Amino acid sequence: MIAPPGAGKGTQGVEIARRFDVPHIATGDLLRRHVAEGTELGRSVQESMGRGELVPDDVVLAMVRAALESLPGDGYVLDGIPRTLPQAQALYAVAVALGLTADIALHLQVADDEVVRRLLVRAGEQGRSDDTAEVIQDRLALYYDVTHPILAWYAERGILVTVDGMRPPEEVAALIATGLETLQRVQREAGSPRRLDLTGLQAAFRVDQ
Ligand code: AMP
Repeated sequence: MIAPPGAGKGTQGVEIARRFDVPHIATGDLLRRHVAEGTELGRSVQESMGRGELVPDDVVLAMVRAALESLPGDGYVLDGIPRTLPQAQALYAVAVALGLTADIALHLQVADDEVVRRLLVRAGEQGRSDDTAEVIQDRLALYYDVTHPILAWYAERGILVTVDGMRPPEEVAALIATGLETLQRVQREAGSPRRLDLTGLQAAFRVDQ
């Protein structure tokens, strides 16, 4: 899943994992758990996380490799990684080595002002140290700088599904379900990957009625 902070990756990632009965591997959650438990890894990343900066690639990649190595099957939802093109490429190599594929890259599209609004609401509810007005702006800038460009890489590979993340969570979940099923069908029929942009299709699927 690729999306700006606050776009709903966590909520939708949990839902997709539940629907397909596969693990939801969220790098932010794994890192926050290390911080909460005060592990050595947690202590080493705490400051940069609080500033909204990325933690070193080798730290996240080792964590994700371990999670992928212990998958019960070959299905998974990755949330929070890749954040950079080098991470995307490293992850690809890890997946190939483990005999896994990335079937779909899911992009949740949400406007900047909505992202900021949601993160400030979450700050009040969860008190995350990186949900302050200033750090939110830095995280958003970082997203556009290093994460958003990865989308073109997945689009070229024909596995990108873009969904309008501005809608209420149940509607976004319905759009994602449609997107995943449609891309799988298109890929099967065409015998090759395709890119799918569903951001204009809500009316057609009548999810808002
Ligand atoms: P998230 O919960 O996905 O918003 O991630 C929270 C924080 O964890 C980020 O702001 C980064 O500091 C760190 N983080 C999560 N995933 C990654 C990643 N793939 N690479 C580097 N840092 C990450």
